[in-house]
Amino acid sequence: MTGEGEIAHLSGMKLNNSDSTKIICTLGPASSDEHTIEQLARHGMAVARLNFSHGTHEFHKQLISSVRKVSRKLDQPIAILQDLSGPKIRVGRIVDGAVRIETGSTLTVVAHDILGDATMISASPANLIPDLKLGDLIFIDDGMIRLQVLESGHESTKATVIKGGLLKEHKGINLPHSTLTLPSLTKKDLKDLEFGLEHGVDWIALSFVRSADDVLHLKKEIAKRGHDTPVIAKLEKPQAIKKLSEIINAADGIMVARGDLGVEMPLDEVPMIQKTIITTANEMHKPVITATQMLESMTQNITPTRAEVSDVANAILDGTDCVMLSGETAAGLYPVEVVAQMARIIHTTEARMRSRFEPVFNFIGKPACEFPVAIAEAAISMAQEIDARLIACFTQSGLSARLVSKQKASVPIIAFTPHRAIVNRLALLRGVFPSYVPHFRSVDQMINHVENSLKKDRIVKKGDNVVIVASAPVNIHGDTNMLKLHTIS
Ligand code: PGA
Ligand code: MN
Repeated sequence: MTGEGEIAHLSGMKLNNSDSTKIICTLGPASSDEHTIEQLARHGMAVARLNFSHGTHEFHKQLISSVRKVSRKLDQPIAILQDLSGPKIRVGRIVDGAVRIETGSTLTVVAHDILGDATMISASPANLIPDLKLGDLIFIDDGMIRLQVLESGHESTKATVIKGGLLKEHKGINLPHSTLTLPSLTKKDLKDLEFGLEHGVDWIALSFVRSADDVLHLKKEIAKRGHDTPVIAKLEKPQAIKKLSEIINAADGIMVARGDLGVEMPLDEVPMIQKTIITTANEMHKPVITATQMLESMTQNITPTRAEVSDVANAILDGTDCVMLSGETAAGLYPVEVVAQMARIIHTTEARMRSRFEPVFNFIGKPACEFPVAIAEAAISMAQEIDARLIACFTQSGLSARLVSKQKASVPIIAFTPHRAIVNRLALLRGVFPSYVPHFRSVDQMINHVENSLKKDRIVKKGDNVVIVASAPVNIHGDTNMLKLHTIS
């Protein structure tokens, strides 16, 4: 981003790499220093995810300031995604941080804070723990450790360890059998939300969404605090999958949260659910993120497995907008290498897609009734027709950039916006390269700006065709209603 009043520019570097699928990196202890964050950004991080299930506010504050600093230094917009923990039950503290739990042993889980060992551990928050029934399953650490309830009380539950292993403190607990009536936002989430809004995060993700109401409730809490930060609904509960369209409709974006999804549901269901979620999100014009274990083995190894490389490529073929790294960048040994690897997979896969597939023109046989949707669809069709170098999209709220993005263009979309708060948000959208511009007085002035800034950054040259999407008259919050085919002079 450039300073107030300056003409924004896009660095040539970014358009040399005009791959469309965006990379989200979770920041953590392995990637908290500014140098590493800069390397992640240089290698393709478009979105920095802060996982509020871990780390103090002080830690996250430092991360936010480092990301903003790197973004200014590289003149590269980076979206900050705050991920709220939601109603997740977790293991408490454990002696020396971890303990080995033997299969066949008995383990008591209590609802008050203790220093856990191989016979007794604590779980919190206490008010989220439901009364369990004899035979109910308790999954710890994404099902790595499994318990079955022997005797249950409100304060303590006795269980048999049916699958033992190394139990680490603060790991997540899933109760796949119980349908709980839990609040969608815990007290901690509300405190984290206040913090996030105060520090200007660009997107907020909500874990364990069960209904559209959960999303609307968070949106209300955001509005109450005077913000309009967009919300990503994390789909990781079976209930959410049943109400997919309603949730996508209420949210500004969606995450296929395969980690918890694969614990809450049979693991073999996840691949087809991923495809359904992505297709539905695409049809409903909302950005979709595919998350968790994408290059998991690179947490420890310098190269990924063949299966992981295929998984990333297949998510792109499914039509995902973003691919996400979690532990790989937050706690792994090779945070920078893993982003570079992901960027290579994206680059190669997209290059082949372009030569293999014709773009899908959604308007064929389906009359569009809304101006912005019709313009977005036509922009892609026109771009192909005139062999455009790029689509320049003027956007006030970000809506038209999102709609054009969802048409899966094979050329970059340069999104010009006069609103600073929107610039970084747009970095999450597939194929969108955001740029801050001043307010314009006329359409002519706007077109002039496109020419000059794109030429200055050598993104276009004389004779190149571009497609311009805008609304006229300029600077009025109205529907996108203008499509201009333009040859750079
Ligand atoms: P988490 O969400 O990393 O916050 O658990 C992602 C997932 O469950 O896949
Ligand atoms: Mn999760």
